[in-house]
Amino acid sequence: MTLSVQTKAGPAGLIADLQSLGLRLEDNEVGIIGRRGGAGPSDHKAVNLGSRTVMIPIATASACESPFVASRPDANGISEIRRDGIVVSHIEFPKQPRFYDLKTADGTPYSYIATLHSSDVLATTLLQSCIRYGNRKTSCQFCAIGQSLAAGKTILSKTPEQLAEVAKAAVELDKVKHMVMTTGTPNLTDRGAALLCESAESVKAVVDLPIQGQCEPPDEDIWFERMKAAGIDSLGMHLEAVLPEVRARIMPGKSSVPLERYMDAFDSAIAVFGRGQVSTYILAGLGDTPEAILAMSEQLIGKGVYPFVVPFVPITGTPLENHPAPAPAFLGQILPKLGAMLKQANLLSHEMKAGCAKCGACSALASYEV
Ligand code: SF4
Repeated sequence: MTLSVQTKAGPAGLIADLQSLGLRLEDNEVGIIGRRGGAGPSDHKAVNLGSRTVMIPIATASACESPFVASRPDANGISEIRRDGIVVSHIEFPKQPRFYDLKTADGTPYSYIATLHSSDVLATTLLQSCIRYGNRKTSCQFCAIGQSLAAGKTILSKTPEQLAEVAKAAVELDKVKHMVMTTGTPNLTDRGAALLCESAESVKAVVDLPIQGQCEPPDEDIWFERMKAAGIDSLGMHLEAVLPEVRARIMPGKSSVPLERYMDAFDSAIAVFGRGQVSTYILAGLGDTPEAILAMSEQLIGKGVYPFVVPFVPITGTPLENHPAPAPAFLGQILPKLGAMLKQANLLSHEMKAGCAKCGACSALASYEV
């Protein structure tokens, strides 16, 4: 079903505005149960808008002040989105996936092992902890990886067997199309690559599901070949911020991995995974200027790396909970130009085999590639 989008800015502009300002809900129980904290799109809900499923902040402090309100769904499951009282669009909330009803033999709910992102992505955090988390001097200031663990909504580490069981069920029951495996950084050597290898191997042994692995650049480039051989189809190594002073302030621990190491690692990873199968996440709104983000993106595109620029969302309980989300106008200085650059370079999100850039639900960027 195609849902109407009646706004001058069109669907891409409305998505960017909603992701910047958030959405208030008349009925908090609709859609897939949102998750507070954790890695990935915390404090968001998936929403079908136009032809896309996107993740919209709903439980953040700024979302509570949003001019956008979603009405209680009607008998057909359609909600109106009103801005300052005027209807600007209609949306639908995807239904809870069926694999959420299942538990492993030891009684662990499948949703504690992996969750549905957007409408067709299975996402898991292999290790729900990080060597840098728990110490404000080293932890990434935006990170909430420990919150869902503390809330009892996930388990500390997911075994390869559990991941395979859940992935198979999610494909069979809910037709998920690809899988994102991220991890807290367990050490300063392979930085999670070994965990990704054993997990991907186990999933691929039972189900043919494209997988994106996400980790920091490992100490040795041989890990890229090992990850590829284990069944990882695409790789994300996330810069998060690009200017040295922003990196140092926002990621006091992770910024010890120099930008030069990321750049070398991108080259080595592209040689293994191929052009357009390596990506990075850049959070817009943490202090980097639009010019800095676009300059870094240009450099990355030149290497064949997809720069997935996502609006920063302040998560409750993190050191940045009161940091403002980026204004729509700020995103407007980046996303349309970046979308045009990606199109010009023929480096397109839908051609990725798996991962966040392919999913695209956390940013309006893909809407500007066309
Ligand atoms: S873009 Fe990545 S983090 Fe966001 S919903 Fe999709 S898979 Fe999840």
